[in-house]
Amino acid sequence: MYTKSIETIEELKKLHDSPLMTLVSQAHAVHKQFHNLEEVQVCNLISIKTGGCPEDCKYCAQSSFYATGVKAEPMLSLEKVLEEAKKALARGATRICLGAALREVRDGRQFEEILSMVKAITELGVEVCCTLGMLKESQAERLKEAGLYAYNHNLDSSENFYKTIITTRSYEDRLRTLDVVEKAGIGVCCGAILGMGETVEDRLAFLLTLAKRDPLPQSIPINRLTAVKGTPLEGASPLSFWDMLRMIACTRLVIPQAMIRLSSGRIEMSYEMQALSFFAGANSIFMGEKLLTVANSSVDQDEQMFSLLGLRKKRAFSS
Ligand code: SAM
Ligand code: SF4
Repeated sequence: MYTKSIETIEELKKLHDSPLMTLVSQAHAVHKQFHNLEEVQVCNLISIKTGGCPEDCKYCAQSSFYATGVKAEPMLSLEKVLEEAKKALARGATRICLGAALREVRDGRQFEEILSMVKAITELGVEVCCTLGMLKESQAERLKEAGLYAYNHNLDSSENFYKTIITTRSYEDRLRTLDVVEKAGIGVCCGAILGMGETVEDRLAFLLTLAKRDPLPQSIPINRLTAVKGTPLEGASPLSFWDMLRMIACTRLVIPQAMIRLSSGRIEMSYEMQALSFFAGANSIFMGEKLLTVANSSVDQDEQMFSLLGLRKKRAFSS
């Protein structure tokens, strides 16, 4: 069984920098021990409240700090969200993620509506995840009661680098919400963004922060920065796929149980790049024309990739 225990950034850096074929084959061996190689989970991200966010995340099209052309919109109705969710389920999605451009959840009518969305989609027999910003204990408990399966709250990078990217909240704020989510017995989905100008050490520090949590996160989205026009990161140089692959392999080795999700930036990845990412341990994607406000791979392209690679869509609640 899986034995490697990696404690320090030095050990992890040595692993990360090892010859790529060795790194990927080690990650593949661990991936096989914990997951079915032929299964990839299909998720669908619905932006239930878009734009006008009061936070200044330098990468985000939805921040009200930047002129990105994304306008603040009212929250979607329960009917509209259910319609989107059913379309996604018909395509084989087994996880519906409800995303909102919020700093935090506020009690009141909007939160009540989100609770009815969680309940209604849970009753369709699939995993529901929410990503709504910071949460209070009472709100996490109510989301759990409504049937919430997971809560996404990305740490994005190391604590050091985080403060250069976001100033309207702290890393500590993020960690606190992860604690609140865990305490309510909800699964944690916590990921990173690669290609913001961070160092490899920043990426690995993120991974070690996750690896030290108990319980370990249930899923880890690996985002490639989408350089959005109008944001401070619009001119960031594109991430090398080889850096992405190394990070996927290290994530698989350090947190073998977690689902690893190819998220933002997958639209720029060829089938070959995605196949290699699955081989190294990634086992989930977002399917659907949009990822919140940015373009995603087309559904037809993804369906074609699944049949080309002989991949099956993973059942709900099976990870
Ligand atoms: N507003 C909520 C929050 O910040 O927690 C929900 C955010 S939603 C899951 C968007 C996530 O996708 C962010 O947490 C961030 O990690 C990632 N993201 C946003 N903009 C991105 C971009 N331009 N490129 C890559 N990842 C991005
Ligand atoms: Fe707001 Fe979330 Fe975008 Fe940050 S990532 S600006 S919190 S929507």
